[in-house]
Amino acid sequence: MKVLRLSLENYRNLTPTVLFPHEGINVIYGNNAQGKTNLIEALWLFCGQKSFRGSKDSELVAFEKEAARLRLQFHSGDRDQTAEIKITNKRDYILNDIPQANTQRIGESFCAVVFAPSHLSLIKDGPKSRRQFLDTAISQLRPSYQKNLSGYQRAVMQRNAILRDVKAHSELLEMLEVFEDRIALTGAKIISQRQKYLEALSKVAPEIYHGLSRGKETLEIAYKSSIENGSEPEQLREALKAARAEDMHTGITGVGPHRDDIDFMINSLSVKSFGSQGQQRSAVLSMKLSEAEVLKRFSGEHPIAILDDVMSELDSERQDYIFNHIKGWQ
Ligand code: ATP
Ligand code: MG
Repeated sequence: MKVLRLSLENYRNLTPTVLFPHEGINVIYGNNAQGKTNLIEALWLFCGQKSFRGSKDSELVAFEKEAARLRLQFHSGDRDQTAEIKITNKRDYILNDIPQANTQRIGESFCAVVFAPSHLSLIKDGPKSRRQFLDTAISQLRPSYQKNLSGYQRAVMQRNAILRDVKAHSELLEMLEVFEDRIALTGAKIISQRQKYLEALSKVAPEIYHGLSRGKETLEIAYKSSIENGSEPEQLREALKAARAEDMHTGITGVGPHRDDIDFMINSLSVKSFGSQGQQRSAVLSMKLSEAEVLKRFSGEHPIAILDDVMSELDSERQDYIFNHIKGWQ
């Protein structure tokens, strides 16, 4: 995968911009607030994912303008391709001159991994950001994952609504079973896919971390589920049943993949509680670089690596390791 040309119109603070990147490493430098992060954010949107800054689509359009236009020429699947995004308060995608009803095909054609300083939340924040990391990464590999996840989230919301009403309307108990069945089927699939994905990452990330720390430190990653053997629908169904009394009390579903987490350990100590700034950054970076490896193994195509402010807080040995590791990547 190579980006050949990127052009932007009315995108955030960037005046009409055309970029012809080198096929190897490109360094984008400048003063604060010049628009460096905006530029790479624009490129990331071609993966069909949300902005990594968590912005709404309307915030991406330059102030006082109605629409932004982004055009990309890239090489993928042994041919040159084009993609276009028009952003208003939503996004319209065109791939090789064909308008797309959704982002599935665009996400299959163009792929990148991104590291932004906000991704340090992967270690520093609560479990939500870690689940989001898994969900975004897996839906890039398998677009059907997102659909199943949405189905799961809907079923949990419906179960929660019933939990609150069932005391006054005991006839709703039957409905509870229906939604628990749905949660069990969709939820077990989520857990199983997340576990498999993390297993694939665990084959690469510790090796990268080992290299980053010059062999001095060991990184371990593990999926932490709220249910034992939750990848079996039957186990998840049983867990939901067992949690009913408690859940009726709180009014929310207390078990399931929406409660799961990832454990990061360096030399057997929790990175969140004991890791230094540089160790935390290195752990997140190892995850992001291995995300690229897994994507490559899966699609046969090396994704673009978008690294924002990646070197700060890293000593020169770690910086050298990264430059060497990404040699040959764009
Ligand atoms: P730093 O080195 O500090 O990270 P940067 O070059 O990465 O800086 P960006 O974050 O890309 O800077 O750009 C930030 C600037 O973009 C801000 O000054 C902000 O006001 C401006 N900006 C953001 N959204 C819009 C928009 N929709 N229209 C116009 N300007 C915008
Ligand atoms: Mg920036």
